[in-house]
Amino acid sequence: MKKVIIVGAGISGMTAGIILQNSGFETEIFEKNPVPGGELTGWKRNGIYIDNCIDYLMCSKKGSAMNELWHEIGMLDDSVKMFDKNRFFTYKGHGGEITYWRDKERTKREMLELSPDDKEAIEKFFENVTRAESMIMPIEKPMDKMGPRDFMKLGDFIKNIPAAQKAYQGVSVKDLANSFKSPVLRGSVMNTHPEMTQAYSFIMSYAMVTSGSGDIPEGGSLAAALRIADKYRKAGGKLNLNSPVKNVKIEGKTASGIVLESGEEVKADYVICATDANHTFTHLLPAEYMPKKLKNCFDDKEHFSVFSKFHAAFLVDGKTTIPEDTTFWDSEGLNVWGRQITDVGVICYDYDPTITPEGKTILQMKIFQYGDEVDKWFELSKDREKYEAKKNEIAEAMKVLIEKQFPETEGKISVIDTWTPVSYARNCNAYRGAYMAFVADKDTKTVTTPGVVKKLKNVFLAGQWLMGSGGLPPATAQGKYAAWRICKKEGVICK
Ligand SMILES: Cc1cc2nc3c(=O)[nH]c(=O)nc-3n(C[C@H](O)[C@H](O)[C@H](O)COP(=O)(O)OP(=O)(O)OC[C@H]3O[C@@H](n4cnc5c(N)ncnc54)[C@H](O)[C@@H]3O)c2cc1C
Repeated sequence: MKKVIIVGAGISGMTAGIILQNSGFETEIFEKNPVPGGELTGWKRNGIYIDNCIDYLMCSKKGSAMNELWHEIGMLDDSVKMFDKNRFFTYKGHGGEITYWRDKERTKREMLELSPDDKEAIEKFFENVTRAESMIMPIEKPMDKMGPRDFMKLGDFIKNIPAAQKAYQGVSVKDLANSFKSPVLRGSVMNTHPEMTQAYSFIMSYAMVTSGSGDIPEGGSLAAALRIADKYRKAGGKLNLNSPVKNVKIEGKTASGIVLESGEEVKADYVICATDANHTFTHLLPAEYMPKKLKNCFDDKEHFSVFSKFHAAFLVDGKTTIPEDTTFWDSEGLNVWGRQITDVGVICYDYDPTITPEGKTILQMKIFQYGDEVDKWFELSKDREKYEAKKNEIAEAMKVLIEKQFPETEGKISVIDTWTPVSYARNCNAYRGAYMAFVADKDTKTVTTPGVVKKLKNVFLAGQWLMGSGGLPPATAQGKYAAWRICKKEGVICK
């Protein structure tokens, strides 16, 4: 039985592990953290659960191939209730309000009532949301190994997705916002994605909700990660936690295994690096082995950027009028690193009673952090006291904005935790604290990189950084692709 070592117990590494175990391999995962899941996670502070991933589980639509894969790996199972994502979000501002409902006809109607002058832009928007509903994640085999017949099997995806992308070619999220005359519609578009992102990303995300592909599993992200780890162990896999890997041991064109930070060496026939791409090629493998496509993304900072967020979690002592899920509003603003941010929002976790204590409300507020804002967090984190003080200062300012918008919360909100780009770098070795992959700008195509290392015969890559702007479906698909490549080499059926 051939042995495969997987570095990283994020969703990608665990997916590879489960599929390889089911296909007859012996596998071992080495994870630096005490808990599996990587970015798919959550934790408790003072007994309160804080979720830190699934705002919506993209590609979760029943009957889809991705939904089947979610079941195979334990992300979903029949005993796990799904909360219908009934709205993408609500935006209140500039004297008006708009909700992006799951029912897109209702949203369209309400947009037209709000701003009849925007008819043309609204019609175009919904035409392309409808097209983007055909979005599926190809998971049978790696995309670079797919032939015309495989593409044919993807059905409407093949014509609809390129058409939607073409309709918004050269258009950023900010441009999309500006295509509306109504200040309410303009404001509404600017909250869920970084403004330089291609407009298509916003359209596709909303289409996930309208097509029923963006529901949320009960218990949140940590419960999902633990289910996946359980599935891996039950398939016979060995999950080593608290086991940081120093590097892959290379002998000529082959890897003989890995070296742990403890100095211990572990031998294997194959190694999969399912870690952040920057970490892989600055620590685990020589930098010059980075695939060219990936290197171009890291080098071309004009067209490919990464972002992170500052987050704060709050506990409200009591129930509120804050709608469950996501609400943004136009506030008097808060200043972060000299940037005045007026549109803010909260996620209210009331939809999941399994994670919300009775009679209380859990909220999170997040703000995008880009470029030198990220650098400032890293610089400040060298002084623990100042770092903590800055986090608290922002969280307190957020609290005031929530109290103003929802006066019934006044005096009842406490900050339960704050975290920054530094948290993602520390916990997951995430490049510049980015928990998604590259954001391609409006003039650039997103890039998919085959998870192979040309100079090494038995080392494969997995993880979200190999596919577009990342996220759970790409990370999971890439785990499957890495397993597929090893099965193919060994001539066994990939199960
Ligand atoms: C706040 C937040 C919200 C999100 N919302 C969504 C959402 O709604 N929908 C969606 O699709 N996606 C969402 N994502 C993104 C999603 O979480 C990621 O795309 C996905 O989890 C990445 O998985 P991965 O396996 O590629 O990488 P990771 O999760 O980063 O896994 C890599 C693993 O490798 C480990 N590791 C790193 N270096 C080493 C080493 N040297 N030795 C051993 N182990 C190592 C890390 O600790 C980690 O466990 C969100 C993420 C965050 C943080």
